[in-house]
Amino acid sequence: MTEDRQQALEAVHAQIRRCEQCPLHMGRTHTVPGMGPLDAALMFIGEAPGFHEDQQGVPFVGAAGQFLSELLDKAGIDRHSVFITNVLKCRPPSNRDPLPEEVAACKDYLDQQIALIRPQIIVTLGRHSMARAFPDEKISAVHGQPRRVGEWVYFPMFHPAAALHQPSLRGTVEADFARLRDLLDGKIVPDEYTPPPPLEQLSLF
Ligand code: URA
Repeated sequence: MTEDRQQALEAVHAQIRRCEQCPLHMGRTHTVPGMGPLDAALMFIGEAPGFHEDQQGVPFVGAAGQFLSELLDKAGIDRHSVFITNVLKCRPPSNRDPLPEEVAACKDYLDQQIALIRPQIIVTLGRHSMARAFPDEKISAVHGQPRRVGEWVYFPMFHPAAALHQPSLRGTVEADFARLRDLLDGKIVPDEYTPPPPLEQLSLF
């Protein structure tokens, strides 16, 4: 069973490596499917590969990645025990924000990774990753608050790169990692999240 899931995950990653579903494939050196064990309790979802990730095909290996390793270390979480991936699997030119059509083209890959890994907690890094579960929220309002959405528990965080560019955020990010540790240890219980109802369509008649 585990072998089947591992093979299925490898098949998804092989599909990503061949992917030409959006124009980002034309500028890539490597795709960056993700990295980590199948039985990871924590899954981190960043935004998109940057220069170093594109060069190596590995997520979070640049400056933001080194900071992520530091934060995990401080929280007593082994980086090798977590699964790390991104919303986009290819680098956008000059690290610009992901476009909605790129997110849509990659969505199925991320859905399949989540379904196969079945993490206990999905940590979203930055607003583009958070938008998957909470499209109408502001990261400044909801970071560090675990919420159950259907079968998954989401834990939104600022992107580590944001704390590198804005040193005042560093303490906040460190505090959120300490809360993540508590969540993992069962000391915090996630809130149930019910998405707001869609706005009623106004009829002119
Ligand atoms: N930033 C991200 O969002 N992902 C990476 O893999 C690296 C930097």
